[in-house]
Amino acid sequence: MDCIFCKIIKGEIPSAKVFENDKMVAFNDIKPKAKAHILIVPKKHIESIKHLEESDMELIGKMFLVAQKIAKEKNLEGYKLVVNVGREGGQLIDHLHLHLLSGDFNGLSN
Ligand code: AMP
Ligand code: ZN
Repeated sequence: MDCIFCKIIKGEIPSAKVFENDKMVAFNDIKPKAKAHILIVPKKHIESIKHLEESDMELIGKMFLVAQKIAKEKNLEGYKLVVNVGREGGQLIDHLHLHLLSGDFNGLSN
């Protein structure tokens, strides 16, 4: 499968990781749209929110808890959590991910 985030998860493409456990990885966005811009990515390849199943419920909860943990560690006072869904929703990479953005927004601000 030709998925850039799966390749990052497997270590085939380098990334600046800020968190990793058995289910999830988080790394800095390569083109940051805020002072802090981190992507929280489940290791399971799920294309988008459109492809979620009932059994993914716990994983989705964990994505938000990982975001909270990273924000706490980085002393982010406030932040924005964004999930783009489909091309018309601004999704470019078809592997589910949560954007964690904080400070000096440049786009994605609404
Ligand atoms: P989205 O538009 O929601 O699919 O977001 C995809 C994000 O992945 C964009 O913000 C890109 O800048 C980011 N991105 C693309 N390739 C890489 C990469 N190799 N490492 C880190 N972030 C990436
Ligand atoms: Zn993938």
